[in-house]
Amino acid sequence: MEQAATSAASVSRHGNYINGEWSTEGQPLEVRNPANTDEVVGVFTKSPVSGIERAAAAAEAALPGWSGMPAPARGNILFKAADILDSRFEKIAAEMTREEGKTFPEAKGEVRRTINIFRYFAGEGSRMPGMTVPSERDRVHMFTFRRPIGVVGLITPWNFPSAIPAWKLAPALICGNTVILKPASVAPLSSWRIVEALHEAGIPKGVVNFVVGSGSELGQALVNAGPIKAVSFTGSCQIGQWLHEQASKRRLRIQLEMGAKNPTIVLADADLAAATENVVNAAFFSTGQKCTATSRVIVEDAIYDKFLASLIERTKRLKVGNGMEPGIDIGPCVDENQMNTVLRYIEIGKKEAGAPKLGGNRLTDAAHAKGYFIEPTIFTEVSEDMVIAREEIFGPVLAVMRARNFEDAMRIANNSAMGLSASIQTSNLSRVFEYLSGMQAGLLTVNLPSAGVEYQLPFGGTKDSSFGPKEQGQTALEFYSDYKTVYLKY
Ligand code: NAP
Repeated sequence: MEQAATSAASVSRHGNYINGEWSTEGQPLEVRNPANTDEVVGVFTKSPVSGIERAAAAAEAALPGWSGMPAPARGNILFKAADILDSRFEKIAAEMTREEGKTFPEAKGEVRRTINIFRYFAGEGSRMPGMTVPSERDRVHMFTFRRPIGVVGLITPWNFPSAIPAWKLAPALICGNTVILKPASVAPLSSWRIVEALHEAGIPKGVVNFVVGSGSELGQALVNAGPIKAVSFTGSCQIGQWLHEQASKRRLRIQLEMGAKNPTIVLADADLAAATENVVNAAFFSTGQKCTATSRVIVEDAIYDKFLASLIERTKRLKVGNGMEPGIDIGPCVDENQMNTVLRYIEIGKKEAGAPKLGGNRLTDAAHAKGYFIEPTIFTEVSEDMVIAREEIFGPVLAVMRARNFEDAMRIANNSAMGLSASIQTSNLSRVFEYLSGMQAGLLTVNLPSAGVEYQLPFGGTKDSSFGPKEQGQTALEFYSDYKTVYLKY
């Protein structure tokens, strides 16, 4: 495919959205295609700190009107925004591939999920369950109802630039909160499209505010802003920890979804072909840049050599390139920083585990020269003490580890500070239940990839991966609303 070059001058400027108006106050921020750095995908506006302050004031002013609106009416606005996104489905997905690098089919999957999330929570407007229980006392009626918590700050990463903003925005809004969204600076276009859809759907001014800019400057301003009552964050452990410290000083409600080092256990009785496919999918699709990606595959000794041969044979067939081209399996790393981080870990891996059995290099031939492409990389005989077995890499790098048996595999899998997702490949039902009960992770899959969750159930991890109530599904309402408990004598 011919690579387009686009100059910043030919791309229109995307403003921030504050109090129902688009604002271009601030320096331009160019977003480039990681598969072809000649192409400017969008020019955004790097807001000064005052943008957060204005957004917080607007959100506070909008709160009584929005929280006072019947929840089904709020739902109607979310339904309408979902319809607007649906009408632009292919265009928004193509933009996502160009800004984040994931393949076009993956981007379509994510935009579909965003639309589904909006419809799911829009419907919640007509449910919004509370509790009614019998009283011990005569002629006393007891029940709860939900109230919003107020102005909520949402800080999101670049790897799911549409779905993560959606799974925070939609439950926050349906519960009657007003919000400020601060997306990742390297990929703000996908969430800008959601805000555009909400604007066109007629969301009242000030209810949603969108502010792009430096994470450290705006992040600090967000947790300091007087009207803010809660922060929901998805990103690295380091920033999450910092935010937690800041937020606790003000007793803000906080929800953190952070890093991971997810294992897949492959037992000797697994279906070899399916296990191979699941591990390749979870380790390398989306360039390994999923928080639920598998980065450690722990293989029972009896099947180690056979599984490794199958894994290498399948991985060799993956095609790396521009995600807009048909047949491409793996796109680029999201930016130069991320690519350099991955290359640094590959160098560490070479010192610790020896040369990788596959990959290990940046791709620089003509087809890949303008992007941040790295070969899918497999290290073998990785031991638990190695850095590549302990730290999140967030790229197409897989550590293969040997386990004596199921118990040893579980011990290795749980030997991590993090615990977001995990997977097991086996046909033994007893092992499945032992794994479900003993695995220290919030998201557990069986005979499926460790990545690939749906929006209808709680999402989140344990240990250092997560803090606070889970996201998505009905549980999302717990973070974004408060109960009022009523005792009524009649
Ligand atoms: P990141 O560097 O932590 O950034 C996440 C967000 O925080 C961005 O919007 C960033 O803004 C902002 N930020 C940076 N410094 C900040 C500060 N001092 N205060 C407040 N906000 C600040 O993470 P990332 O590189 O975008 O994303 C990758 C990480 O996210 C990985 O660790 C991955 O595991 C994790 N992740 C976790 C989940 C999950 O559900 N557990 C899901 C997806 C991703 P700028 O972009 O402007 O720096």
